Amino acid sequence: MHPDSLAVHAGRDDLRALGVHAPPIDLSTTYPFESLDAAVGSLDAMMEGGGPTEAGGAIYSRLHSPTVARFEAGLAALEGAEASVAFASGMAALTALVLAAASEGRRHVVGVRPIYGTTDRLLSSGLLGTTVTWTDQAGVAGAVRDDTGLVMIETPVNPTLDLVDVAAVARAAGDVPVAVDATFGTPVLQQPLALGAALVMHSATKFIGGHGDVLAGVVAGSEAWAGRLRQVRILTGANLHPQAAYLLHRGLATLPLRVRRSQATATALAARLLDHPGVGAVYHPSVAGRDPRGLVGTQMRGPGPMLAFEVLGPDGAPDGPGAFAAADGFLRALRLATPAVSLGSTDTLAQHPAGLTQRVSTGEARSKGGITAGLVRVSVGLEHADDLWVDLRQAIDAGRDGGPVR
Ligand code: PLP
Repeated sequence: MHPDSLAVHAGRDDLRALGVHAPPIDLSTTYPFESLDAAVGSLDAMMEGGGPTEAGGAIYSRLHSPTVARFEAGLAALEGAEASVAFASGMAALTALVLAAASEGRRHVVGVRPIYGTTDRLLSSGLLGTTVTWTDQAGVAGAVRDDTGLVMIETPVNPTLDLVDVAAVARAAGDVPVAVDATFGTPVLQQPLALGAALVMHSATKFIGGHGDVLAGVVAGSEAWAGRLRQVRILTGANLHPQAAYLLHRGLATLPLRVRRSQATATALAARLLDHPGVGAVYHPSVAGRDPRGLVGTQMRGPGPMLAFEVLGPDGAPDGPGAFAAADGFLRALRLATPAVSLGSTDTLAQHPAGLTQRVSTGEARSKGGITAGLVRVSVGLEHADDLWVDLRQAIDAGRDGGPVR
């Protein structure tokens, strides 16, 4: 089936037999069992990473939730994965992924920078008992060691929208599993598993949920990986709530439409921003020179719905206090778009990576990543491109003049 059809139907196969049209939300935390024998069998199966048995049932919702499992089936279908495992947030998903992969004497992680600031912070902190070697994508082969359990990359990269060549990294990593944070690309635009990644993860808080009202994360991969991830989830308890899973599952149905529409608008806005005298670098893979490996059209079906650009200070510089003030003024002057972190909502959001999302990574990671004081990141929503351009343009102009009076 075409992914557009899968997005609407996956995880809903049994609804007609159940006599319902919308997926039921099962809020049970505990489940009655028919016999102790059957319950023991189901518990044992789930503790080994499998699903509940037919006879024994789910037992307890930290072990299994039928509503969460429906969303997982839908997401796995879109990723072309055997399975997916959902978590309470993107960071919970990443934590489970690192714990599942980087264990048993393979506690070294190779990370490709730049990467989402909190991911950078988590891996740099060693909080999960791992060590990290940061590199760029060309350095992966050289950074992999005998004790490396995971290569962690993100593409498109937050916030510069660089594209990392997943197939090249997978080749460079050899036997070491590669995990891709594909939050910005969504399964609509790329399938990292088909390119050689072992695992793909999303902050489902973003485009997958799509309406700014669910915090969630998900990891997709083989059934063997899913088993390990379920074990981590059972033992650490970062489960997704069924109500949230219902909303995510509903979000999947419109994901392809939303992503393609935002992508087209982001491309149109990028072209207009390039001509604005108050704007420095424009970061979008559609911009000349921003996709040096030619990954749009091969790895990714389009340049994506995220955009970043530098607001120049009155001195024409993209960095320094003048640029910071211009970016602050820009954000405060926005009328249609909302100055807020996060992304992937129906409405347009703009934020300041150096001050907010990348602030938690090290200063070195920020400067190497080209994250200047004037850089703003825009998550393009579903508004009309012309209305958004009017808003961005007036806010850039207002920002250069110091922004609205506080
Ligand atoms: N990965 C990326 C690329 C993100 O942008 C985010 C959040 O902004 C995360 C992971 C973390 O996800 P969450 O906030 O759902 O924990």
